[in-house]
Amino acid sequence: MHDFHYKNGELLCEQVPLSRIVAKYGTPCYVYSNGTITDHFQKLDKALAPVDHTICYAVKANSNLAVLKTVATLGGGFDVVSKGEIERVVAAGGDHNKCIFAGVGKTAREIEFALRLGIYAFNAESEAELERINAIAKRLRKKAPISVRVNPNVDAKTHAKITTGTYENKFGIAFEQVKKIYAKAAKLSNLKIKGVQMHIGSQLTTTDPFEGAVKKLIPLVTDLIKRYKIEFFSIGGGLGIVYDPALESGAASWWKKKEAAKILTPQSYADRLIPLLKPLGIKILVEPGRFIAGNAGALITQVEYIKKTGKKNFVIVDAAMNDLIRPAFYEAHHDIVPVKRKGGSKISSDVVGPICESGDTFCKNRPLPRVKEGDTLALLSAGAYAFVMASNYNTRPMPAEVMVKGKQFTAVRERETPASLWAHEKIPSWLK
Ligand SMILES: *Cc1c(COP(=O)(O)O)cnc(C)c1O
Repeated sequence: MHDFHYKNGELLCEQVPLSRIVAKYGTPCYVYSNGTITDHFQKLDKALAPVDHTICYAVKANSNLAVLKTVATLGGGFDVVSKGEIERVVAAGGDHNKCIFAGVGKTAREIEFALRLGIYAFNAESEAELERINAIAKRLRKKAPISVRVNPNVDAKTHAKITTGTYENKFGIAFEQVKKIYAKAAKLSNLKIKGVQMHIGSQLTTTDPFEGAVKKLIPLVTDLIKRYKIEFFSIGGGLGIVYDPALESGAASWWKKKEAAKILTPQSYADRLIPLLKPLGIKILVEPGRFIAGNAGALITQVEYIKKTGKKNFVIVDAAMNDLIRPAFYEAHHDIVPVKRKGGSKISSDVVGPICESGDTFCKNRPLPRVKEGDTLALLSAGAYAFVMASNYNTRPMPAEVMVKGKQFTAVRERETPASLWAHEKIPSWLK
């Protein structure tokens, strides 16, 4: 579900033709639909209504202040993984008391910052971290709210780089050791045990792994409620989105249709999990990132050259792997569509960026409309793990980010200037 659609042959985001955004802000640029973010948040919120819950948006997916402000306005909390992300939430007008702080490597400085400010809970990922949080809390004469991240050792059946819930991964505390860790935490006088957490991976497109992990944790959670009166159970994020719309379209093969029928929706997720969670009688947290922002964004890019080699039709565009690394990093699929709809036959194309790396390829051998120099293309589903992973490789300024709401649009981050890229650099006086 998203708000990018054609009208009279023109691709619009909500009610704004992308050509207008390109005319004003140039390419490459990211465009985000406020309406899609809102819709996805509210669909999940509604599906989870039968249980006391908070949606803690995973800031790392897309941390633009305007996105965070949107989530804050909807009443969301935040899943954060660094001091910087907490500061962003505050800068956007979000509530630091609704922040849960995850991550295996929280530094002493980050813990102290979060304790002084006040957050909802630290999701601790090791015994050493619990000891560190306790020591810092003691020094500050505070009680640190904590939960422990449990690694349930279930295979989320997703891409190797984004699976987190098996013992092959660095995340969480092994299921078998969790009770011992809670007993230890209970003895540390400056900790307050508040909850328990899990997060088994990202881009899960079926509910089965969630159900398996929750089922596995229920006896443990029940025990923790009895022993420590915990207030919440966070079931993590990981809700997947549809990157390949062939899965949604009626023209897909029967196999794809069968797959599409199984695809996770907020309702199918809630239908499977609520019967398990409701009897616990405690607050349920969810930490979606991709599900909220993924399909709310597109990367708009201009065709620079068409290069036909003997074998290939290369479409060389002005966006590159530094702007959107997902295809290079995760072999991710992004649907690519022209901003002005093209009729006619399609041609098998490789869409590539200008960077001198073979990985700088957005798609290979994909049937695409025959585009020409100067045309603009949209890479869809680029709202999550997209701009946030961009870099300045090749001294390429980061693209502008634009938000659309209805008929309105504005830059929510200006395109960087080359000079800003070396603003923190200096030439030593002894280099003559
Ligand atoms: C990354 C992350 C999330 C969000 O994952 P999505 O797949 O974007 O929903 C949630 N919780 C934790 C602890 C994470 O590390």
